[in-house]
Amino acid sequence: MNIVELRGVTKTYNGHVHALRGVDLTVSTGELLAIIGPSGSGKSTMLHMIGTLDRPTTGSVRIAGHSVLDLTDRQLSALRARHLGFVFQQFHLSPGVSALDNVADGLLYTGTPLRTRRERAASALERVGLGHRLDHKPNQMSGGEQQRVAVARAVVGDPPLLLADEPTGNLDSAAGAEVLKIIKELHEGGTTIAIITHDNEIAEWCPRQVRVRDGLVLS
Ligand code: ADP
Ligand code: ADP
Repeated sequence: MNIVELRGVTKTYNGHVHALRGVDLTVSTGELLAIIGPSGSGKSTMLHMIGTLDRPTTGSVRIAGHSVLDLTDRQLSALRARHLGFVFQQFHLSPGVSALDNVADGLLYTGTPLRTRRERAASALERVGLGHRLDHKPNQMSGGEQQRVAVARAVVGDPPLLLADEPTGNLDSAAGAEVLKIIKELHEGGTTIAIITHDNEIAEWCPRQVRVRDGLVLS
């Protein structure tokens, strides 16, 4: 089954910045792919399209069988809550809140009761090796630990599709390797994963590479 289908996707910002110029991309369930290309080539815009965070100017986007064109903003939020997890270069954690509650917040829009959110958050934190850090706040943790909290938050709802934009971009190589190890485990567990990276080693570590140049996917 194809979890992602982009057909002829264009995205123009402010009427004149042609970030995507006709992208076709199909991703099968269970793939681990790297999206690579120079700065400004359209990688983040493509990830935003796949993540249904923004709509294309023209073309079609189908995620898990749902056509983004046919859904209202509210339905898109519901689709994201059920199907998608996001990790960014910046960790985007809430500073005043424990690791446990940062991760539990990943289930806020799913209608899960608080107690269950916290139980699932604790087990997600265990999965990323932070079972002993539940009560720590982000400023009491290293960058690598914070990114693992962010990964736990992204996957606490067991989304079939995880999107990561330069997830190791702010980490030293040891911390980056730990994050990649978790990504590998998630992939082995069946999660479909797309990673934007500038790092050729990470790109080659992924079974599939998608090269983006000037708003187009190179075949
Ligand atoms: P990459 O991730 O490969 O660096 P982006 O998708 O961020 O590329 O950007 C592609 C092009 O679109 C660039 O020219 C960028 O300046 C422009 N762009 C991206 N986001 C916006 C935005 N929100 N508004 C205007 N221009 C944007
Ligand atoms: P799954 O793909 O796991 O079967 P759903 O079918 O529940 O998940 O769809 C996920 C989201 O997509 C829904 O929460 C809803 O917002 C939207 N959606 C699904 N089917 C429709 C539909 N027929 N009309 C409008 N929106 C839909």
